[in-house]
Amino acid sequence: MFPAVQVPPESLSFNNILTRERYGHLPTKILTGTTPQVGAKDSIWWRDILSIGRTADEDWFKSNVGCCVGDDNDIGFWKFKWFGNNSFGELYPNLYAKEAFKDVLISDRLSRNGTDTEWHWQWCEELSDNDAHHLRALKQLLLDCPFDQARSDRWRWVPDSVGLFTVKSCYSLLLQYSNTVVLESNVLDAIQKLWKNDVSSKVNIFGWRLLLEKLHTRAALHHRGILNNSHDISCIFCYMHMEDCSHLFFNCSFVKGVWETIYRWLGQSLPADLEGWNHFLSFGSLVKSKKGNQIRHLIWLATTWCLWKLRNNVVFNGALPDASKLVDDIKTFSWFWFRGRFGRKSSFSFSSYCMSSKHTIICFIL
Ligand SMILES: [Zn+2]
Repeated sequence: MFPAVQVPPESLSFNNILTRERYGHLPTKILTGTTPQVGAKDSIWWRDILSIGRTADEDWFKSNVGCCVGDDNDIGFWKFKWFGNNSFGELYPNLYAKEAFKDVLISDRLSRNGTDTEWHWQWCEELSDNDAHHLRALKQLLLDCPFDQARSDRWRWVPDSVGLFTVKSCYSLLLQYSNTVVLESNVLDAIQKLWKNDVSSKVNIFGWRLLLEKLHTRAALHHRGILNNSHDISCIFCYMHMEDCSHLFFNCSFVKGVWETIYRWLGQSLPADLEGWNHFLSFGSLVKSKKGNQIRHLIWLATTWCLWKLRNNVVFNGALPDASKLVDDIKTFSWFWFRGRFGRKSSFSFSSYCMSSKHTIICFIL
């Protein structure tokens, strides 16, 4: 689609056949008109394609793609902005209204014989005198249109000076559209420490969403209007409070019992009244050595990760919450994560890791 990628003619042809048969003219669907309707039978791929750059307020992708006319086989005559900043459909709405085929391509309206060009029109009703006047003006404009028959039609990424699409330029563009959220310094500090932990990316992302309170808890779904029954938004561990991040991970009586066991295992006392980033940073401070940055919050992440998995298992599979099994899972998960990173340096076994705080990660790296 973009000039940076050279597509062999055979593939282009194959691609055109497939997409046009199934979905119609792809550039017209994506780059022109209003938001197209998505059918119930449309594939996920097609829904993704149509949703590119479209939000409630902006249509940033479409408005940042221009076109350069070459052999005019791919650019719609009326709907595309191929000459100036407006489409001809916008410049001449009366003519466009009488066009017989609204999605007609330039190549369908233009015939060439060497340097000579001739335009062919198809109207669905007779033109008025005023329309004829507009048509003459349009033809006059078309005399100055730049055609480069030696090249195929090509798309131009407007934000880039040479028209090439890059992820970097797209990212910079999206930053301009985004509403920058200034995080509280403590939350930012916690997130920066979170990324240093050597865990899988899915666990890091989970921790990031937890620190930002962006997980899909029942309270979050309620605020979005998805869960409206008050019985559906209570904590599935205690059924006493609304399930938000604060309660689910730190304040629920069931969860506090789990944290107490984890802290006892580490030979520490559970600090009172901490939650979120405060809880995270406090846990990390148990590790004194800078060498421990990569595993500083490993057990904290294992605990919250296993809690979230258990919560989902209860909600979606009807599992029964079992605190002792949950603690076993936390020790097992953290053990495997730890062994995967520092296994060769450690000499203690899984059983000693589970049983004695003397052999925990914290003791190891002190
Ligand atoms: Zn609860």
